[in-house]
Amino acid sequence: MDFNNFYRQSIMGNRDFDVVIIGGSYAGLSAAMALGRAIRKVLIIDAGKPCNRQTPHSHNFITQDGVKPAEISALAKEQVLAYPTVRFESDTVVDVIGANNNFKLVTEEKGTFTAKKIIFATGVRDIMPDIPGFPESWGISVIHCPYCHGYEYRGQKTGIFMNGEGALEFVKLIDNWTQKLTLFTNGKATFDKAVFNKISNPDFRIVEKEIKALLHDNGQLSAVVFQDGTSEKLDALYAKLPFQQHTDIPARIGCEINDAGYIKVNEFGKTSVAGIFAAGDNTSRLRSVSSAVAAGTVAGAFSNHEMISDRYI
Ligand SMILES: Cc1cc2nc3c(=O)[nH]c(=O)nc-3n(C[C@H](O)[C@H](O)[C@H](O)COP(=O)(O)OP(=O)(O)OC[C@H]3O[C@@H](n4cnc5c(N)ncnc54)[C@H](O)[C@@H]3O)c2cc1C
Repeated sequence: MDFNNFYRQSIMGNRDFDVVIIGGSYAGLSAAMALGRAIRKVLIIDAGKPCNRQTPHSHNFITQDGVKPAEISALAKEQVLAYPTVRFESDTVVDVIGANNNFKLVTEEKGTFTAKKIIFATGVRDIMPDIPGFPESWGISVIHCPYCHGYEYRGQKTGIFMNGEGALEFVKLIDNWTQKLTLFTNGKATFDKAVFNKISNPDFRIVEKEIKALLHDNGQLSAVVFQDGTSEKLDALYAKLPFQQHTDIPARIGCEINDAGYIKVNEFGKTSVAGIFAAGDNTSRLRSVSSAVAAGTVAGAFSNHEMISDRYI
């Protein structure tokens, strides 16, 4: 029996793994690659709901610029599963019990698995405002990040959907991508408008009217409609949305969560609970495919390192 077959058979039907990675998108697959290359028995369990699934093209990740998000993860999955000690299951993890080197994971459909280490690569869920047209346009023309999608909307009539103290910084950030910029506060501004005098762009405006709907064609914005019945043409709208962790399991099992709502990790991806690592959007506001991939590599390598330390100390 050759090397690959030997290892593949050793994980087929097996329920005991060195590492179980919860979440099999960019961070999770990247962690799995490091661990597969370290010949660790790895199970990736993924519920199939990456946050960028509605975006037609992903940008700002070298070698993959402009590629569909699902194509990037499909290629990553193919490359990761070429390592014979790595297995992938489509499922949702609903509970984790136990402790370092002896975790038990419970899934919705495929039963239980054990792991020495766990990596949460579970991402976050964006919470949409209750505005018709908003969710449908999310990731298409309602966008979260200028580095990811700003170039495609450069020079176009653009809004920023935001209220509160961070608004000035966001306006300054977008200013170089387009001068046709309006800040929509969706109700009375809750910040000092005088500070916006710093914005030298003569076309910049603040609109405090409440928004009723976004008009769009398959997610491509054409206008914002206000509660007072008026409307305004628009090509793109930036929005910084509130978010939730996709799963509360890390918090339930004691992982510290910081004030901003992210799982606390150190530079090696370790959470505050021994044997549990986390990587990607669930740990950081630096939200990009490249950051998630980098964090996954770190968590994969250092969970392996921890297993080596466990064995030799
Ligand atoms: C609309 C939008 C557009 C974006 N565009 C870009 C872009 O152009 N370029 C760029 O670099 N970045 C972009 N980003 C950011 C990028 O998509 C994220 O940073 C990246 O997806 C984070 O990867 P992740 O693996 O941490 O999380 P995700 O990709 O969100 O994946 C998390 C995975 O974990 C799974 N999961 C969660 N809980 C469980 C559970 N209990 N059991 C099993 N599985 C679970 C989910 O179903 C999901 O598959 C965009 C983000 C958004 C929201």
